[in-house]
Amino acid sequence: LNMSSVIDFIILVGVLLFFFYIFRSVINMIYFYMLAKFSEGRYFFISQRLFKTYLNLENQKFNNLNTAHLTKMIVNEASYVTQVISSILFMISEIFVIIFIYALLLYVDWKSTLLLSFVLLLVVSVILIKITKLVKTKGREREKNQRNVYDILSSSFGNFKVIKLFSNEKEILDSFSSASRKFVHTNILFETTSHIPRLILDGIGFASLSFVVTFLVWKYNANIAEFMPILALYILALYRLLPSMHRIIVRYNKIIFYASSIELVHKEINYNGEELGSDKIVFENSIRLKDIDFVYEDDLKILNRINLEIYKGEHIGIIGESGSGKSTFVDILIGLNLPSNGEIFIDSDRLSKDSLVSWRKQIGYVPQSVYLFDGSVGDNIVFGRSYDSDKLVEVLKQVKLWDFFSKKNGIDTKVGEGGKLLSGGQKQRVAIARALYSSPEIIVLDEATSALDSKIEEKIMRELYLLCKDKTLIIISHNETILERCNKIIKVENKGIVVTEKKGNLL
Ligand code: ADP
Ligand code: MG
Repeated sequence: LNMSSVIDFIILVGVLLFFFYIFRSVINMIYFYMLAKFSEGRYFFISQRLFKTYLNLENQKFNNLNTAHLTKMIVNEASYVTQVISSILFMISEIFVIIFIYALLLYVDWKSTLLLSFVLLLVVSVILIKITKLVKTKGREREKNQRNVYDILSSSFGNFKVIKLFSNEKEILDSFSSASRKFVHTNILFETTSHIPRLILDGIGFASLSFVVTFLVWKYNANIAEFMPILALYILALYRLLPSMHRIIVRYNKIIFYASSIELVHKEINYNGEELGSDKIVFENSIRLKDIDFVYEDDLKILNRINLEIYKGEHIGIIGESGSGKSTFVDILIGLNLPSNGEIFIDSDRLSKDSLVSWRKQIGYVPQSVYLFDGSVGDNIVFGRSYDSDKLVEVLKQVKLWDFFSKKNGIDTKVGEGGKLLSGGQKQRVAIARALYSSPEIIVLDEATSALDSKIEEKIMRELYLLCKDKTLIIISHNETILERCNKIIKVENKGIVVTEKKGNLL
């Protein structure tokens, strides 16, 4: 630099370094922030897409899936995909570092550099081939073991009372420990293997460097001074190069380890959902089923050529042996499952995917097993629809729960997870309130009260008939006394139906 004194040079370099390091810190901070922002953004995107895909699944398809698995997909697998993405980005940045250092080394002394590269490449490929294979199989096992952990958790928390009564906490804990231990083992292996490349690289890199230095000293005696600058350059380069290569290998292994997550997420994010239109469908007169067949995925016919007309305002009772296909039949009627063959007409319009949403909205459905989530009774009834406190009080009065809740916190009373803080009858009444909340035209009860004792069941049903005098009611029940007020009884048997009409005053 044509400087007059060494001191000037050192001062100049010192000042430059001062600013360089500050600049470098700032750039690094921005870099890590951008990287995190990008990859967490991917997590947000992927988990949201997965959740949306699952929500849009057809009812039948959803029934075949395991909810613990779905939770794991959204919570864990999506975040592993993010880790793979950020690993790829880190790898790219390290590759740039390596390219620049290499370019410099090649420029300074290409012969030694090529020799060095040859040695390093050899080492790296041996490491990669040996370790990557192991990491890949362990990655698969990780997915499987983690799934077991989730399954045990959800089956235990969902069956708490049963576990208490069986007093088999120990067995459950043992199965959890064994699954969890396997999961931890795969992770231990992954962690350990991630350090091995560094140890090998460091060892071989610096060992060969010492060898070269010793060799030079031995060959040129003490006249080492002229090699000093180049040697220093190589040592510095290795000092930066080896960690870089190590990081690339670690990232690469991480990508391999979590490759199964990518495959899974890719597969599940592409599940076909329901593609439903927004056509309106109007129910003024009747629902007509024409030659309806239904087959679940296993090719076993459940319903065969069903023909039926239900008029508005009718009260229909559905009976039949357990497993005869009552729920299946009703699920078709309310548009949850599409018939395999045949057509449904609402008045004169054919029910199709374009009008399914509009049809479902006109239906209030009470299932046999009610799931109330850990929140207020109001939130449980509204369940994502628009919140209207007056309407809430009204439906709670209709289902005769207001006396009970008004003594507590009103519509803000907590019900406990799964409705633990309520009795069976109260839970079913909340479920009925949920169905009534949007004032639907059609009310469907699928053995909604059959878990209750018959006195309470008959009481609830009597109230319901009064409430729904003018509505279309479809009730599946084992208890024929509660179907006495129906004007039509449909018996599902032998994959078909038998209709009995009742005459006279029904109420
Ligand atoms: P019911 O309500 O009359 O007791 P269902 O309609 O629930 O009977 O079931 C009728 C038949 O369909 C049963 O044999 C049952 O095993 C079968 N089934 C029900 N749901 C599914 C499903 N998601 N996949 C395959 N088969 C099913
Ligand atoms: Mg059923």
